[in-house]
Amino acid sequence: MWINVDHPTKKITFHLDDCIFIPTADSKYKKVNGLLRDGGWLYYKDLQEAQSYYEDNYKKYKFGSCNSCKEN
Ligand SMILES: [Zn+2]
Repeated sequence: MWINVDHPTKKITFHLDDCIFIPTADSKYKKVNGLLRDGGWLYYKDLQEAQSYYEDNYKKYKFGSCNSCKEN
């Protein structure tokens, strides 16, 4: 379970482990497994962990699931 934290759009997007949109390398302002100026990609073992991270840290951000990989 990955979450994409995007500061410029104030948005959190949830992705499944095998989603094609998960980057394999850091970009200039977004890191994989960490956060940079524009946010980043963080890995959690399950949806529950990811959701509690979101609620603790980014309650004011919009929240959504990826249209490509979401389960339902
Ligand atoms: Zn996805």
